[in-house]
Amino acid sequence: MADALEASIAQRISEAQRPVVFSGAGLSAESGVPTFRGGSEHALWSQYDPHQLASVEGFEHQPDVVLAWYEWRRGILADAQPNAAHHALARFKDALLVTQNVDDLLEQAGASADRVLHLHGSIVHDRCHGGCGWSERVDLNEPTASRDCPSCGEPVRPAVVWFGEPLPEVVWEQALAACSEADLLLVIGTSGVVQPAAMLVELASQAGAFVVNLNPEPTQLDSIADVSVHRPAAEVLPELISD
Ligand code: NAD
Ligand code: ZN
Repeated sequence: MADALEASIAQRISEAQRPVVFSGAGLSAESGVPTFRGGSEHALWSQYDPHQLASVEGFEHQPDVVLAWYEWRRGILADAQPNAAHHALARFKDALLVTQNVDDLLEQAGASADRVLHLHGSIVHDRCHGGCGWSERVDLNEPTASRDCPSCGEPVRPAVVWFGEPLPEVVWEQALAACSEADLLLVIGTSGVVQPAAMLVELASQAGAFVVNLNPEPTQLDSIADVSVHRPAAEVLPELISD
């Protein structure tokens, strides 16, 4: 344990009655999955703004560019393994795991799917862009080529939530309810700028949860959190969550 502050956080975590974890791209950074913000540079795609690529407008105006970007991201994920932070959260069996991440590294680490809430969908699935409900799991090593929905003929797209799209309603309602009842919110690896997801932190805090923010960089969430630890998740989480 690095210091007395972290020892006191570990104690709060072990004593929490209704813990919720809220994670972002930083949770998977140490698995080699790039974040959108926070200093990671990827020459191939750094000329593009994620808002242009992860959007309905982007997909409808330049589908081949957007699908090529997803093919690149899926290829990275195909080689990625859960890191020590994912494994620590999989062990944290009392906690609901609300995540903005579209990868399935928490599930791969052993977290049961019924306690992982994916606010922004899944990159390991495709779905119908026309909204007919058709969806299937993809092989991450296969090319992400343009194709039509076998059910209705509309274009097929990654089953993620793009900027400007609504969050999946049931999942969002579950996250809101859990955060308004939580006594501890553990925030991990998120810049806190993507709405409405980021409002969960403010909601939990106002409802009385003790908010712990883990991020190697300062973010706007530091001002809401009761305590912030500026260390990488895979380094600090195994120390905070006991077996
Ligand atoms: P973000 O990219 O905006 O911010 C990532 C944050 O992680 C930064 O604040 C950074 O300082 C922090 N970080 C970097 N390394 C870390 C580490 N080792 N430990 C802890 N924190 C670390 O991510 P976001 O806030 O999640 O929001 C961006 C959107 O991007 C989300 O909607 C999400 O769906 C999507 N996204 C998902 C993935 C994924 O599924 N793995 C990857 C990239 C982006
Ligand atoms: Zn369809």
